[in-house]
Amino acid sequence: MAIEMSKITIIGGGVVGLSVALGLLQAGRMVTVLDGTDNDLRASQGNFGLIWLQGKGAEFAPYAKWTREAVSAWSGFAEKIEDLSGENLALEQYGGFEFFTDEKEFSDFTASLKRQKTHLGGRIVHEYISGDDLRRTYPGIGGGVVGATYCKLDGHVNPLRLLKALRSAVVRLGGQIVTDAKVHTISPATGGGFDLLLQKGDKLGAEKIILCAGLGNAQLSSQLGFVTQVRPPTR
Ligand SMILES: Cc1cc2nc3c(=O)[nH]c(=O)nc-3n(C[C@H](O)[C@H](O)[C@H](O)COP(=O)(O)OP(=O)(O)OC[C@H]3O[C@@H](n4cnc5c(N)ncnc54)[C@H](O)[C@@H]3O)c2cc1C
Repeated sequence: MAIEMSKITIIGGGVVGLSVALGLLQAGRMVTVLDGTDNDLRASQGNFGLIWLQGKGAEFAPYAKWTREAVSAWSGFAEKIEDLSGENLALEQYGGFEFFTDEKEFSDFTASLKRQKTHLGGRIVHEYISGDDLRRTYPGIGGGVVGATYCKLDGHVNPLRLLKALRSAVVRLGGQIVTDAKVHTISPATGGGFDLLLQKGDKLGAEKIILCAGLGNAQLSSQLGFVTQVRPPTR
């Protein structure tokens, strides 16, 4: 396989790797994205497409603020990748409810929203709605629902279209995406840069690498001597 490597190699072609690629291309850098196989478990394919603010960062102010900024930035971002890819992302930001069937969970969540609001002040408004009030407006909601929270800033996008659009946008801007190119081993090369060994045996050289391999980062970062905190949730 002949792969023409750019100065910057991004390992992982999910939403994170492709978004990083897009940003670098827009800044005038050339990138090569090495992605895994069709059968990889990709969070970018399996997620719900929510662009969700309520509750985010209740316990960590910077996360609340980043999420707030991201929610505002989304329409401009969507417009840009829709233009580049010709794909309709089906973005809707008309507000979202979280429903509860357990009183304690409802009151714990409303308490966390109040903590979130302390970080964001007037930049977020939550509504807390009792089950009976909900049913007056939406009679189809069952008697087991004890309440809901609402934030008018919440929304969603079609996640599969997003992934497809990001891929098209990266290619449109001149980026190279190589699939079935799972990196097995990374080692520092003599004279600088890195030697990459792909799972299927190919050897590649890379000047700079950016790890965007989702859960795959744990295995790759340990080869470079650091620990990544990205891991599946434990229950
Ligand atoms: C069920 C579920 C629902 C979610 N819902 C939402 C939601 O509604 N809204 C939201 O914002 N977030 C949601 N998330 C989180 C969101 O999906 C992830 O944060 C995001 O998709 C992570 O993207 P990623 O590119 O880092 O990882 P991934 O999508 O997992 O991509 C990693 C990529 O790296 C590649 N790769 C892995 N190892 C290697 C290797 N060694 N060499 C080369 N390539 C490699 C893989 O093939 C893959 O393409 C959800 C997550 C899950 C699991």
